[in-house]
Amino acid sequence: MDGREMKVRATPKAALSPARLCISIVAPTKVDEAKAALDQGDFERGLRLVEEAEAEQPSDPAARELYVVTHLARAIRLSDKAREVRRQDLLRRKIEYDVEFQDSPGVVESFDAATAAIEDVLRVDSKHWKAQMLKAALLFRRDRETGRPAALEILHALAAADPTNQQVPFTIRKIERPCPRCGDTGFCSHCKGRGQTTFLGMDRKCERCYGRGICPACGVL
Ligand SMILES: [Zn+2]
Ligand SMILES: [Zn+2]
Repeated sequence: MDGREMKVRATPKAALSPARLCISIVAPTKVDEAKAALDQGDFERGLRLVEEAEAEQPSDPAARELYVVTHLARAIRLSDKAREVRRQDLLRRKIEYDVEFQDSPGVVESFDAATAAIEDVLRVDSKHWKAQMLKAALLFRRDRETGRPAALEILHALAAADPTNQQVPFTIRKIERPCPRCGDTGFCSHCKGRGQTTFLGMDRKCERCYGRGICPACGVL
């Protein structure tokens, strides 16, 4: 019994050995740890550490910057994923590309996740123009009818805030009018969003959209 207690106590003592103390004094900050995790390709752990660092020290510029960069990357990924989930869903449901459709719950969920990811960035840096651009693109991507005016409002505000940014007016020109190339569906009209065409009974990658199934003119947004 005594022996066991000794052993139990021995563990915390060992943790406080001089060598361990030294390490904890020069311990890397959460931001450093997050960077290391991201460098190693452990994106999920990196994100978690960045979130902790930002929550603990919201005024630390390094934590803020890393938070914005990583969460913007995440938002871009989720935004692309939402579009792809929708495309796959429409193919599965055999919905013709120029037919009105309602998103299925899985697609709605994907778009919601992407929207939330962008809001995560804007919560920390509300003026971040790339995040604003992405928000506009996602609104437009999700529902052109309601998304177009909402996206244009964001883009016009960005253009007013920084008239030297050429990417903003370029995007405005792209989305302000319905796309004639795809009938404003956002999908590749050549392969009808399949990403493949059939020639002599064989499926092959659509050369107009490089197999992505999205309109080369407007779908890239
Ligand atoms: Zn195509
Ligand atoms: Zn188009």
